[in-house]
Amino acid sequence: MAIALPPEVRQALRMLHDGGYQAYAVGGCVRDSLLGRVPADWDVTTSAAPEQVRRLLSAYPVIETGLKHGTLTVRIGGRPLEITTYRVDMGGRDHRHPDAVRFTPCLTEDLARRDFTVNAMAYNEEEGLIDRFGGQEDLERRLLRCVGEPDRRFEEDALRILRALRFASVLDFAIDEASAGSLVRKRGLLVHVSAERVREELLRLLRGTAPAAVLRRFPSVIGTVLPELTAMVGFDQNNPHHLYDVYEHTIRSVEAAPPDPVVRTALLFHDSGKPASYTEDEQGVGHFRGHAAVSLQLAEQALARLKFDKASSVRILALIRYHDAAVSPTPASLRRWLNRLGEEGLRQLLLVKAADNLAQHPAYHGRQAEIRRLETLLDEVLAQRQCFSLTDLAVNGRDLQAAGIPAGPGMGMLLHTLLEDVIEGRCENDRQVLLSRAALLFDTQREGNA
Ligand code: ATP
Ligand code: MG
Repeated sequence: MAIALPPEVRQALRMLHDGGYQAYAVGGCVRDSLLGRVPADWDVTTSAAPEQVRRLLSAYPVIETGLKHGTLTVRIGGRPLEITTYRVDMGGRDHRHPDAVRFTPCLTEDLARRDFTVNAMAYNEEEGLIDRFGGQEDLERRLLRCVGEPDRRFEEDALRILRALRFASVLDFAIDEASAGSLVRKRGLLVHVSAERVREELLRLLRGTAPAAVLRRFPSVIGTVLPELTAMVGFDQNNPHHLYDVYEHTIRSVEAAPPDPVVRTALLFHDSGKPASYTEDEQGVGHFRGHAAVSLQLAEQALARLKFDKASSVRILALIRYHDAAVSPTPASLRRWLNRLGEEGLRQLLLVKAADNLAQHPAYHGRQAEIRRLETLLDEVLAQRQCFSLTDLAVNGRDLQAAGIPAGPGMGMLLHTLLEDVIEGRCENDRQVLLSRAALLFDTQREGNA
C-alpha cells in the first residue's frame, strides 16, 4: 500500500532518518490518503526528542507549537509540518487534557494514545503502513472505533465524543457499537469541553457529507451541547404538510442544503420553536403560529453560549427569523429582500427555503420550481444593477444639500423615503426625478411642521 507523500514530508522524514531516528507520517493524513481524500495537513511522529528535531531540521524555520507536549511546527517549502515526538499521555483528570506526557521510544505506544483506529496508523516509504489496531480493516468497513477501551478513552478526553460524531459525518462512517454506546453514556463529560471546541466540532459535523445519520443516531449527545433542540425529538406535527416529526424534518432539511455552515446552522434551529408554539384546530390539525420568533430566541441563546462570531450570528438569526416569510416573485419584492439581507443573505434564504421544503411531504415539492424562479429573477435584478440600497441611489445627501435641503436627521429620513419609493417601483432611480421628488417631499414636511 503506497501513499504519495508530499516532497516536504519526504524531506523531513529523510533528515530525521539520516540523524538516526524513526519518523512516519501519522494520523489524519494517512487515513485520508488511504481513503483517496486530500489531507488537510500532514503530521509527523518521530522517536527524536524535540531538541533533536530542532537540530536536524535547523535549516528550516521552527515554531514551538506545543513544546511541552513534544510538538514543533517546521515550515518546509511553505508547508507547515507538525512534528511530534512519540509520547504517552498520562492522566486526564480534567477530562480534556493529559495531566502529563511522557516521551517514549516505542511507536506502538504513541499510536495507542490516538483516538480512533483509523487515526492510529503511521506510514513511511521504507516500512510502508504501520497498523497496530486494525485501522485499515475499519477503513474498509467504514467504521470508527476507539483505540482501546472506549469508556476510558472518552473519560480521558471528552472532546473525542464530538470528534467521533464529526468524523462519522465528514467521512460518512458508522461508529462501532461499543464506542457508540460508550460515548452516549459519557456525554455528560462534554461540560468539560470549551464552548469554542464544541462550536468548531459541531460546525464541522454540520458541513460533513452525512450529518443526518449522525444527528438521527445521537440526539442525546446533540441535546447535551444543544439542549434547545431536544423538544423537537419525536414531536409529532399532526399536519398534512409534514410526514416527519419536527426533529426528523430538521435533520432532513440540514442534509438537503449545500454544506454552507450558516445555512445548515440556521436549518438546525429553524423549527426549534415549534414544540413551544403548538396549537390544534377543531379538526385536530397541528399549527405552529409564531414559531419562527421562538426559534430565533432559542438559537440566539445557543449561539451566544457557543461564542459564535457576531457576523455569522446575525446572518443565521436572520435566516431563522425569515425562513417562513413570503418572498414574492416580483422585482420589487426581491429589491425589498435585497435591501434587508444583501445578495449573499438572500441567496442563503432561498437555500434555506428550498431545503426546508425538500424535507416536507413530497406532495409539496412543487414549491422547488417557485424557488428556482425566484433565483432566476434575482439574477436578473442583480444583472440589471437595480437599486436596492442607499449606495445605489442616484442621489446622496450632498446632492440634496446642494438643492437647498438642510443637513440633519430630516435629510436621512428623506433619503430613506426616496429609496423606499425606488425599491417599490413608485419612482425611477434617476437624479432629476429624485431631486424634484425630494423638493416636493421637503416642502410637504415643512408644511406639516408649520
Ligand atoms: P483533521 O485534520 O481532518 O481534523 P485529523 O485526524 O488529522 O483530522 P487532527 O486534530 O489534525 O485530526 O489530529 C491529528 C491526529 O492526532 C489524529 O489523527 C489523531 O491520531 C491524533 N489526535 C488528535 N486529537 C486527538 C484527541 N483528542 N485524542 C486522541 N488523539 C487525537
Ligand atoms: Mg489533521
